[in-house]
Amino acid sequence: TTTALPQLVSEGLSYRDEDGSSVEYAHLDHGATTPAFRAVADEVAAAAVTYSSVHRGAGFASRVTSSRYEAARETVAAFVGARTDDHVVFTRNTTDSFNLLARALPEDTLVFVFASEHHAALLPWGDALRLPVPHSHDEAVALLEQALRNHPAEHRLVVATGASNVTGEHWPIERLAALAHEHDARFALDAAQVVPHRRVDIDALGIDYVAFSGHKIYAPFGAGVLVGRSDWLDAATPYLAGGGATARVSLDETEWTCGPARHEAGSPNVLGAVALATACEIITEHEQAIVDHEQALRIRLLAGLQQIPGVHVHSLFGGGDGAPVATITVDGHDSSEVARVLGDDHGIGVRDGKFCAHLLVDDLLSEHEQDTAVRISAGLGTTTEHIDRLLGALRAL
Ligand code: PMP
Repeated sequence: TTTALPQLVSEGLSYRDEDGSSVEYAHLDHGATTPAFRAVADEVAAAAVTYSSVHRGAGFASRVTSSRYEAARETVAAFVGARTDDHVVFTRNTTDSFNLLARALPEDTLVFVFASEHHAALLPWGDALRLPVPHSHDEAVALLEQALRNHPAEHRLVVATGASNVTGEHWPIERLAALAHEHDARFALDAAQVVPHRRVDIDALGIDYVAFSGHKIYAPFGAGVLVGRSDWLDAATPYLAGGGATARVSLDETEWTCGPARHEAGSPNVLGAVALATACEIITEHEQAIVDHEQALRIRLLAGLQQIPGVHVHSLFGGGDGAPVATITVDGHDSSEVARVLGDDHGIGVRDGKFCAHLLVDDLLSEHEQDTAVRISAGLGTTTEHIDRLLGALRAL
């Protein structure tokens, strides 16, 4: 229900207003990072007092920690509907996951990526083929189809997002993945902005690789995952060389192990993995309530913004289905000024700029006088009061 979900999230900050009264901070920057679930914070605290080395010790604590780490891997696999032979590799975040995947591609793999992607999904591939920013789902499919027809290669990978970090809009991932497969290409999903909001089943959707970050699903910073097809990952040079990634080391050569450990050398971030996996479980448990809560927030936010003179909401696909996110500009007010006023005068945290998606923001603002925007991104800790406070603050600008 709409009231229970905010209580899952760690208590927000509050600050003192000029008249001395305490004001609850309204975090409307979930697109950047989400506050931890209370249960995640508890789980991390419990794991922190009993931990020992992973896969390196025979003692009891070491075995407990190793099994917690491997259980976290299984939880993540179930969360994304992984196939039995997929690997779940723990990384630092989505950016790290895509850099790992880029290094694991067979030589001369041709990568197709929409220019509208977050830089984490746009930039790791070297000279990828950048597709123009599409303005409808059909256009996205058509652009990809044409590119796949015109650019044959032995190995090809299509990279796309599940939900835009700028507009919140969902992308037609099932259609794009099916199209990639029709052309014998693989499909990698940037799920950083979709898994906090919607279930992603990679087997059912035909997705070969998926990446996301713990800190956007109500777990702390520091852990992310790459899940997907094991063949390229097992054939690739280890992403990190060192202890844990080896099968055999002799004077003359090193034989690397297969499986996720091949790319995870060094002592792993067990607490981050446990936190991320716990967050996956909580999101799964509350799946329908999350959809309902966020849909209500999205409708309230977009309907409210539309009624404020001088406020423009920028969308790619006409504002269809999506996360409770809106990117706006306000006539006569710089985005940095709007964000500062919201923060300083109203206790509302938003983000301004180009959101690590420069080509997308440039496209959205091509007919506007401003070159940066303000992003409002709600989440599970958001209440209707937060949205109404934001709308009131924008009206008063
Ligand atoms: N992809 C998308 C769509 C994102 O929104 C973000 C974070 N803003 C990333 C990738 C990168 O995530 P991280 O910073 O955790 O690597």
